[in-house]
Amino acid sequence: MTYRVGVIGAGQLARMLTPVAVNLDIELKVFAEAEGASAKLATTVVGDYTDAEQVLEFARGVDVITFDHEHVPQPVLQRLVEAGVAVRPGPQALRFAQDKIEMRQKVAELGLGQPEWTRATTADEVQAFVDLHGGRAIVKTPRGGYDGHGVRLVSSGSEVADWLAAEVLDQVGGALLVEEAVDFRRELSQQVARRPSGEMRAWALAASEQVGGVCAEVIAPAPDTTDDVAEQARHIATTIAEAVEVTGALAVELFETNDGRVLVNELAMRPHNSGHWSMDGAVTGQFEQHLRAVLDLPLGDPEARQPVTVMVNVLGGHDGTEHEQALVRALAEVPQAKVHWYGKSYRPGRKMGHVNVTGFDLVETRDAARDAARALGSEVVDSLSV
Ligand code: ADP
Repeated sequence: MTYRVGVIGAGQLARMLTPVAVNLDIELKVFAEAEGASAKLATTVVGDYTDAEQVLEFARGVDVITFDHEHVPQPVLQRLVEAGVAVRPGPQALRFAQDKIEMRQKVAELGLGQPEWTRATTADEVQAFVDLHGGRAIVKTPRGGYDGHGVRLVSSGSEVADWLAAEVLDQVGGALLVEEAVDFRRELSQQVARRPSGEMRAWALAASEQVGGVCAEVIAPAPDTTDDVAEQARHIATTIAEAVEVTGALAVELFETNDGRVLVNELAMRPHNSGHWSMDGAVTGQFEQHLRAVLDLPLGDPEARQPVTVMVNVLGGHDGTEHEQALVRALAEVPQAKVHWYGKSYRPGRKMGHVNVTGFDLVETRDAARDAARALGSEVVDSLSV
């Protein structure tokens, strides 16, 4: 029997499910917003993911529904569940990846570490929080944000006046999330995968660096990590996965503070950019593990294959013939690089692909991955810390 998995959304995450689906003889179907999306390698149905009837029709042709993004509205998800569709992760878990205020409330209830926070619907409320927290705060739109869109560092409530306008506020969840601006040592990501029957496996803790709010580089396992920090990160991710019954891959983005505390930043319930290293750096990569988990198949071994893997995103670059030339250069210059290209058209700073290099020496491995990303035209490699 061939398993059939339906993926809502057809970006690069759906695309990267395709090779592992081929290996396991899983039939993959994607529900795309438009023709020609990144995941065009899989069988594609074009439709509107906010329309319950269209999504239900798509779901009838598969065994399980999963996601490339977290934007499917709760009423659509509920409708699928009521119709008997296996939705993984389910709506009860996805809420906490869809709405950052609901996530903060849940993390508080579970007693896990997080930045101080409040919700605000007026500039005065934002200002009051700023005044109590050293004159600055991070303000976020609870819904619909990605890659730093919907995140602002402010020193005054008036800097988010546009988000407080009634029609915008309504769209982003009815209130803004205001957080203490954490003075972190670095950002970490702990990924786990959980299947409906409860089995859970965790990858190595990864360290990530963002440039302009966008993930630019990931190192796994995170170098210079104390056992205590690794233990806190794993405890946080497994506690959340169990408490809200996540099925599939869960990435918990974390801050490590200078005094060794680990705080939750946000949750992603799907394969995640911070887990791309595992495609080449772990025995079982996140895309294969996600498919196994949503199908309730035994999970694979997530152990790292080598002492270090570095993933560098290609942000910007080229498309067309220019890309072909750049690809030849990258392959020639860094033969150990594993290039993953998403087949998208060029826009400045856009996530066009990524490069993984695994090795024994952190600096050599990191430099090789950066060289390959630079050869592919990445526009931010030189902004990364050394
Ligand atoms: P997105 O949903 O766009 O990924 P995040 O909540 O992950 O938004 O925030 C994007 C980036 O902004 C984070 O990776 C981090 O660098 C910075 N950031 C977010 N929240 C805070 C915070 N409370 N303190 C300091 N920096 C933050």
